[in-house]
Amino acid sequence: MQKIVSIVNRLAALAAKYAYVIGRVALLSCFGMAATNALELTGDPVQGGLLVGQLEPGQSVQYRGKALQLDQQHRFIVALDRDAEPELVLQVSSPASSLASTQAQSMNTQVYPFAIRTREYSIQHIEGVEQKYVEPNPKQVERSRREGQWVVNARRQQRAQNDFFDGFIWPVRGPITGVFGSQRVYNGQPRRPHYGVDVARPTGTPVVAPSAGLVTLAHPDLYFSGGTLIIDHGHGLSSTFLHLSKLLVEEGQQVRQGQQVGHIGATGRVTGAHLDWRMNWTGAGGNIRLDPQLLVEPMSDWVALPHESIESTKTGD
Ligand SMILES: [Zn+2]
Repeated sequence: MQKIVSIVNRLAALAAKYAYVIGRVALLSCFGMAATNALELTGDPVQGGLLVGQLEPGQSVQYRGKALQLDQQHRFIVALDRDAEPELVLQVSSPASSLASTQAQSMNTQVYPFAIRTREYSIQHIEGVEQKYVEPNPKQVERSRREGQWVVNARRQQRAQNDFFDGFIWPVRGPITGVFGSQRVYNGQPRRPHYGVDVARPTGTPVVAPSAGLVTLAHPDLYFSGGTLIIDHGHGLSSTFLHLSKLLVEEGQQVRQGQQVGHIGATGRVTGAHLDWRMNWTGAGGNIRLDPQLLVEPMSDWVALPHESIESTKTGD
């Protein structure tokens, strides 16, 4: 019998969806001259959050040295990882002619720092777990590694679709049994954090697309995640649904917000039926995991349950 010896840092209740404007006065990259124009970002500037920026025509923006995709209205997104640094730094380049300065050549890039709130995640320390449950067998590792590559490939899309700027809806409503960022430590060895939000409903419950997108992976049986669906929303942002019992769409299919795409199940390495909804952003290279729960309205009609062991092992982050 596993013994839970300590539970620390219960995740604070998530704040209601609320738009912050966190633009700051720009810092000039040279000459120390005061700049009057600010870059505005909307969204909650918190670890796991999604921010939307607005540029002027002709401007471009870089994050970690990579140019971010813009839509026709000059908007871009930046997602913040579970353990994102407390400061986000964006570089905005403007055409020299748009700046009223004789030193335009050296003033066309501005650096914008934004403060990011950190979070505390639920960490469970569990001792006395039999070693065979802690170390997966090599065949499983081999299979899940191969399948993980399909998942990575499916999330590499950088399409221009931008419907998601209008917002997201819950793919299914029900009690939340698992939250973003939580982590277990078995016998002192930290496991991969949980990157999704789990909603427990019976097998067969319909799941809908939280926003429009293109189906980039539809697989009935991956080792850890079972019936797995990935919907690319555009700009490198995607949703992944795990443990589905039935897939109603195929790879390459365009779906609209609210369209039924599958049924809840208990497939893969789980012990109970639920939907695990994850969101990823690959728009700056790499793989940033977001908290889907920050993008949708709170579910006041369902009581959150303690997030207990309906999943034994996690993958597909
Ligand atoms: Zn989960």
